[in-house]
Amino acid sequence: MRRVRAAVTETPGAPFTVRDADLEDPRPHEVLVRMTAAGICHTDLGMRDTWPRHLTPMVFGHEGTGRVEAVGAEVTGVVPGDHVCLTFASCGTCEQCAAGHPAYCHASRARNFSGGRDDGTTPLSLDGAPLHAGFFGQSSFATHAVVHERGVVKVSSDLPAAVAAPLGCGGQTGAGTVLNRLRPEPGSSLVVLGAGGVGLSALMAAVAVGCDPVVAVDPVASR
Ligand SMILES: [Zn+2]
Ligand SMILES: [Zn+2]
Repeated sequence: MRRVRAAVTETPGAPFTVRDADLEDPRPHEVLVRMTAAGICHTDLGMRDTWPRHLTPMVFGHEGTGRVEAVGAEVTGVVPGDHVCLTFASCGTCEQCAAGHPAYCHASRARNFSGGRDDGTTPLSLDGAPLHAGFFGQSSFATHAVVHERGVVKVSSDLPAAVAAPLGCGGQTGAGTVLNRLRPEPGSSLVVLGAGGVGLSALMAAVAVGCDPVVAVDPVASR
């Protein structure tokens, strides 16, 4: 158990309040990550406003990046000190996970949107009472998070934290749409409507696979 700080949503729609909280040590397949950056996605704000009251207080945040501080006894993929990005949780054993589609994991709801682990527990507590977590398997609006090892992706130590963080949602949503679903031929034209984190990630993926021309449409000129 360790003392951490988290941006807590006390009731649905309430502003984030920074609170001291307690975080359990990682279980055998879990990893303790000290957050170095976290993106704010529109989904954090939208779900904060519509989140079920019985799953509050809650910690949101699902674009986290940081360094591994401790690992559970069964973890093999990372070691303390590794730089990592966090991503959504999946079970690894259902037919969707086995087919290489963890985003469609049958246990997705329990592992990402239940306010904690799939067994109903949460690694966080606030004044001795459960503090719900596990948002997209992360709850990265905190100094630390305990997450399942399947949601931890090792990244290069020279990747700036502010660049790494959005890979956990915006990066893979935008790039994944182009690389995994659209799969354009080199030389295809591609238009991205909306050049935020998702759109710019799609744009970079389109450039990387040789789309030409690539056009971004956005009302903000600096993008
Ligand atoms: Zn998101
Ligand atoms: Zn699964």
